[in-house]
Amino acid sequence: MSFVTHLEAAIDGTELPHDEPQTMHAGRPLWVRYDLAAVAAVADRDALAVRTPSMWRYRELLPIEDEANVVSLGEQMTPLLRCDRLGAALGVHDLWVKDESGLPTGSFKARGLAMAVTRARELGVTRLAIPTAGNAGGALAAYAARGRLEAWIFMPADTPVVNKAEAANHGAHAYLVDGLITDCGAIVRDGIEPMGWFDVSTLKEPYRIEGKKTMGLELAEQLDWRLPDVVLYPTGGGTGLIGMWKAFAELDAIGWLEDPARPRMISCQAAGCAPIATAWAAGSRFAEPFPDPATSASGLRVPSAVGDFMILDAVRESGGEARAAEESRLVGWARRGAALEGISFCPEAGAALAVLEDMVRDGSVDPNERIVVYNTGAAQKYVEVIELPLETVGTPIDWSALGAASVLGEHVGEPRPP
Ligand SMILES: *Cc1c(COP(=O)(O)O)cnc(C)c1O
Repeated sequence: MSFVTHLEAAIDGTELPHDEPQTMHAGRPLWVRYDLAAVAAVADRDALAVRTPSMWRYRELLPIEDEANVVSLGEQMTPLLRCDRLGAALGVHDLWVKDESGLPTGSFKARGLAMAVTRARELGVTRLAIPTAGNAGGALAAYAARGRLEAWIFMPADTPVVNKAEAANHGAHAYLVDGLITDCGAIVRDGIEPMGWFDVSTLKEPYRIEGKKTMGLELAEQLDWRLPDVVLYPTGGGTGLIGMWKAFAELDAIGWLEDPARPRMISCQAAGCAPIATAWAAGSRFAEPFPDPATSASGLRVPSAVGDFMILDAVRESGGEARAAEESRLVGWARRGAALEGISFCPEAGAALAVLEDMVRDGSVDPNERIVVYNTGAAQKYVEVIELPLETVGTPIDWSALGAASVLGEHVGEPRPP
C-alpha cells in the first residue's frame, strides 16, 4: 500500500486517478501526490538506518503498491564524494560530487526506469516504447528484461555506440532511426494504437520523476538532513532537477529537514542544445524548441522538453539559474575531474563543472558555499567522445622520452606539448 492519493496535472491542477495507466494531461506532465500528513505520522527518519541502502528505502515517499512488484537490479545509494582537488581547480572550498555512474547501466536513468517499469508492471502494462538519445534506452532495455516486459526502443542513428549495444544486448526491439530524437518520438506516438505501446518517454508517464526524486532524498540523508547551498545539475528533459526539487518539498512537508533552507538549483546545459538556458535568459516560463541541436553530451540533446515550465519554475523558486557552457569545454572538464578525483565523469557533468567555473568567476557562487555537482553517468559510455591522450612506447623503452609527464598533476587536464 502506498501513500499516493492521486495524480495532478502540472499545468492546471486537474486531478486524475493513479490506479490506472496515465500519461499526460493537456499535453503536459503529471505530478504524483501523496498524503504527506499520513506519511509524517508513520514514517520515521531514524528507521532508515536499518533498511537496505538503495533507492527503495524511502518507500513511504514512493508510489509502489506492493514491494513484491519492485523491478530491481540493485540500485544502491550512490556515493556523495568530497572533492577537494577538483574544488581547488575550480576555486571553491566545499565541493561534493554525487556520483551516479555506478548505478545499473551506468547512469542515473536507472532510477527513473526502475520506477517506471515497476509501476507499469503493477498496472498491467506489458509493451513499453521509448524514443531515446542514449542512456534511457539502455536502462529501459535492462529493466524491461528484468521485469519480463517488452521494450521497443527508437534511437537516432548517431546515438553513442554503447547505448545501441546495450539496447540490443538486453533483448529489446531496438531500431535506429534516420532522423532526430523528435522523429523517434513521432514513431512511438504513432505506434501507441496499432502496436499497443505504452510511452515511457521522459515526463510522458508520471513515475520516472518519482525514481529520480530519490537522488534528492539520498542527498538529504547523506548530509544529515541539511541541504547544500547550491546544486548543479546537467539538464536535458529535466526529470532529475524536477524530481529533486519535489523531494526537498516533500521532506520539508514531513518535517525531516533539520533546516528548511533549500539549495539554489542550477540547470546546466551545453551551448549546442540550450533551450532551458535560453528561456531563462529571456525570462520566459516556457522554452522554444532549440534549432539544430548538437552536443557530444547526448543526455543533454533534448531540443524541446515537455516539462520546460516545471524545470524553470523549480529554478526560479530556488533562486537559481539556468546556464549553458560551450561545447569545447565539456569533455575537458569531465577529463580533468576524472584525473583529479578518480570519478568517471560523463560529458554532461562536464557541462555542470564548466558552468560552476563560470559562476565562480562572475561571483554567482561564494567559494565557501557548500556545492553539489551531479555526475549523472559514467565516462565509459562515451567511447566516441572521451579523448584518449595516449602515447605508444617502444621496446626497449627510451626512459628519457617519458620525462616528467608521469608525475601526477603535472599535465593534468592540460593539452600535452606537441
Ligand atoms: C538523460 C541524461 C541527462 C539529463 O537528464 P534529465 O534529468 O532528463 O534532465 C543528464 N546526464 C546523463 C548522463 C543523461 O543520461
